[in-house]
Amino acid sequence: MPKKPSHEEDEFFAKEEANQLHALAQERARKMKEEELENLKKLHFMHCPKCGFDLKAIQFKSLTIDKCFHCNGTFLDAGELEALAGKESDFLHRVVAVFKR
Ligand SMILES: [Zn+2]
Repeated sequence: MPKKPSHEEDEFFAKEEANQLHALAQERARKMKEEELENLKKLHFMHCPKCGFDLKAIQFKSLTIDKCFHCNGTFLDAGELEALAGKESDFLHRVVAVFKR
């Protein structure tokens, strides 16, 4: 009978996968020309990664949260999730309550 992985194992493998994906993205970006990267940014910047509609920047305390009012997706920039995790314990619940429909 296979042993159920522990939370620590799950976190280890998730972190390993994230590190590999980050390295692949960095390698791909290095190989792409600067002009191609600029065109990609123009095409995708502040558009929802799920449905393609415009994202709206919503200020919530010290964070700027990108919100899609079409599919109701909520997105954070690099470092913002870490900033949220370091806040008071009910902070995430309050963020969700702000955007809950
Ligand atoms: Zn969307």
